[in-house]
Formats: sequence, structure tokens, C-alpha cells
Amino acid sequence: MNTSEFPEDIQEHIIPKVSGNYEYHCLNCCNVWDIDQLLYTCPSCGHVLMIKDQQSDRLKQLTAKQWHKIFNYRKLLNIQGLKGIFRYHEFLGSVLPITSLIYLGEGHTPMIEANEMLQKQIGIRFYYKNDGQNPSASFKDRGMACALSYINHLIRSGTLSEVLAICASTGDTSAAAALYGAYLSPHIKTAVLLPHKKVTPQQLSQPLGSGAKVFEIPGVFDDCMKVVEALSDHYHVALLNSKNAWRILGQESYSYEIAQDFDYQLSSVALVVPIGNAGNITAVMNGLIKFYQAGIIKDLPRIIGVQSSHADPVFRYYQEKDANKRNFKPVTVKPSVAQAAMIGNPVSMPRVINRVNRYNEISGKENVFVVQVTEQQIMDCQIIANKYGHIACTHGGECLAGMITAVKQKIIDDQYHVVLDSTAHALKFSGFQNQYFQNTFEPEFEIIPKNELQNFPELIKPKDIKLPAPGAPLDPDSFQLFVNKTSSEIASCLQLKKRSI
Ligand SMILES: *Cc1c(COP(=O)(O)O)cnc(C)c1O
Ligand SMILES: [Zn+2]
Repeated sequence: MNTSEFPEDIQEHIIPKVSGNYEYHCLNCCNVWDIDQLLYTCPSCGHVLMIKDQQSDRLKQLTAKQWHKIFNYRKLLNIQGLKGIFRYHEFLGSVLPITSLIYLGEGHTPMIEANEMLQKQIGIRFYYKNDGQNPSASFKDRGMACALSYINHLIRSGTLSEVLAICASTGDTSAAAALYGAYLSPHIKTAVLLPHKKVTPQQLSQPLGSGAKVFEIPGVFDDCMKVVEALSDHYHVALLNSKNAWRILGQESYSYEIAQDFDYQLSSVALVVPIGNAGNITAVMNGLIKFYQAGIIKDLPRIIGVQSSHADPVFRYYQEKDANKRNFKPVTVKPSVAQAAMIGNPVSMPRVINRVNRYNEISGKENVFVVQVTEQQIMDCQIIANKYGHIACTHGGECLAGMITAVKQKIIDDQYHVVLDSTAHALKFSGFQNQYFQNTFEPEFEIIPKNELQNFPELIKPKDIKLPAPGAPLDPDSFQLFVNKTSSEIASCLQLKKRSI
């Protein structure tokens, strides 16, 4: 739609302008650093950074109503860079010119109300936000679109050239990094480090297909992360893990979309998110705080983080109710079907601690909770969700299990509308589904399939028909016989009633 066709009171705001003053902000020593260079940790204390807009007060100049209208009408714009996460440009990258923004179809993922019977059984009104419907089939694309738009801006302005982008990954970060890197060929080359045999074949195929250099490392994600950190400390590379604060910024779009989908009324909304390296939950909290501070939302929704008992350092940290006695300890992970969250030492833990404090403070009550679920619950819940018409990945199953746990613990009740994050597409984890159906999980997973949830293909091959060799079709009579016998076998299998005419 053309600018002149938008309501007059928002016309001058409908296409965002470059604005704001972004700086890296150290959560530990409170130093600020210029964003004209790629920084991952604080040069003076080594702590992780967050990006802060020092001029965020300017965002309060518009009323909540105006912002709502601007975001709603922006859906009608046909400007590539503003079709995805940058619909919220003022909040997640306002210093970047529109011409540098990259859009590969990320963001605006659907929020789907759960199957009616499933909602009744559980007794909670809930939705799946299908972040697996992003271009590389996980939410990581949100952060990558932002980080790569920033790098694109540095390339276009002549600050950077011949970028080697690098990341460690549990599978999805590398898929997203490789995709966005490939789109910016030849300016960017991408290399990814994966824990050997700890990503699914689908996830491994993604960076290979995008032409990235793929390294497999013995060990788990936490080991790969250490190697990547060493590389980024000593060589000229662009680190694309969520340690990179631009990733967090882009991932805030998830919470903005939810605010918009609920017409900015979040007082009885709860968001359930899986926690791995803790970038996602950091972004969700930070995004909501920013919308709250600009007056766009009046209430902060409840947030429930979920971890598997096989990788639960954040859950353990918050088990201690006395904040002064809390002490973060990394854990050694065990095999988990929520493999993208199989992380024992989350890089964003300092950010989580900082943001949870702020979030609870603004809420005036404890409003962020972390629950723990078993591998069995994760797998059962994923299969159940998908049996009822959803496309949840194992982490989507983890969220459903987490919601059920939160109801039992009275963290939420039937007054809430709950949004579960299906962080990736079910297809990325179809191997785990197969293992469930065929009961072939290694004992360490501690998963025993439930009979009623298993499903198998059935081969129908009428006995008394000789199938011809490939390339040599059946003669017409034999083929008719084949069709008749096969269809009657299927009909008897399905107990179909015969038609009278
Ligand atoms: C990365 C990832 C997670 C974990 O998110 P963090 O930001 O690392 O906490 C969960 N699910 C999927 C599918 C992921 O790719
Ligand atoms: Zn510092």
C-alpha cells in the first residue's frame, strides 16, 4: 500500500526513519561501548553485553494508541525490509537504514489456538506460536536477520569487508547463520561448529546445503562454544551465537508479535519458552520490558521457562528461593530429545539473572518462573500435540509439558491464555519421533513409548499377485486385480462400510 493511503495521523511514521543511539551495555561493570565495531564481551571485564538505545525516551512521544495503529498498518506495507521483524524497527534496530535490512521471510509466525479437545482435557486456553515456520525452520532466524542486517550495514558503509561468520550450534543456529550468510554471498562466508552426532540429519543438511564450511567436533555444544569463543578472541571472525547482542535484539520480535496478536492486552497472558543457551528467554523478557516502558503494553505477561531434567542449570539456580543464596553452577548434560536446548552452561545466564530481576521488579511480583520436565513428558507431549493438528518440535512438546507442570504448581490457572513456543519445525526432529514409534531410544534418554501414542506404516501387498520387475508394467487385467485386492484389504483394515450403490 502506498504511504498516502495510510491514515493521516500515522503517515509520517509509517516508514521508520534511522533514529536512536545504540550502545553495547555491560551488565556487570556498566561500561558502554560504541556499536561501530563487533563486540561480544565487555573489553574491560569480559562480561556479556546487551544493546541499549540511549535515546529510548523518544519512543514515549507517541501514545500507545498511535503505536498500535502504526504496527497494525505496517502489515500493509510492501517494502521488503519491513515485512518481517523490522516492522518493529524503532525497537530492534532503529539505527540501521532500511536499505541494509535483510528479509528472508522470518517473523510474523502464526499463533494457532490449540485443538479444542486438547484445551478441554488440559483445562487451559492455549496457543502454539509456530516459530518453526521461519525460513530455516526455527526462531533463530529472527536473531540472525538482525545480526546479519547489522553486518550488512557495516559492509555497505565500508567498515567491514570479507566477513567470515562463525558459530557453534546445537543445529538451528548453524542452519540460520548459513542461510543468511549465503544470502549475503559473496560478502560473507560462514563456518559452523557442531557437536559430532548431536544434531539431527535434517539440521546437519541445512548448513551443508547453504554452502557453509561445517566442522564436527567431539563433545557437546558447550565444548563447541569454547572453541568458537577462542576463535573469536584471537582471529578476525564475526561471531553469530546469541553471545552476539544483535541476535538478542532480533529475537525480541517474538514478544512484540505476541503483544500485537493479543491487541496489546497481556494482563492474563502467560508465555512458555524452552531454555537452552537462554538467549530466547532473555530476548522475550527484554522485548516486553521495552514495550512496557514505551507505554505500548500496560501489563507484563507471566513467563515460564522450561528445562529438561537432563539439562537444567537455570531451573536449579531458581530452585533456591532466597535470591541472596543463589549460586549458578553449570551442569553436565545428559542426552535430551530437546536437543537444541541441551546446554549445561548457558552463555546468557548473566543476562537472565539481570532481566528476571528487572521483570519481577516492574511486575511488582514474582512473574518469571522456571519449571523442569522429564524426557518422557517432552516426548509424550510432542506426539500428543501433533496428533491434535499441531506441528510442534520436541521443544514445543517441552513447552506443553511445562505448561501442564505450571498448572499443577499453580503458577497459572484457567484464567490465563497461554502461548507455547514451538521453537522449530517438527520435521527437524522426526528422528526422535521415529525412535518413539519404534521404541529404539538408547536407555540414557529414559523414554518408554506409550502404546496409544505410537504409529506405524502398514505395508499392503496382496499375497497372490506377482508384482512385475521395475519398468515392466502389469498387463491391464492384472493391474485391475491389483487395485481391487489392495483396496479391499485397506477397506477391511479400516472397517469401511460398503456403499449400497
Ligand atoms: C536454540 C533453540 C532453543 C533454545 O533457545 P536458547 O535461546 O538457546 O535458550 C530451543 N529450541 C530450539 C528449536 C532452538 O533452536
Ligand atoms: Zn564490563
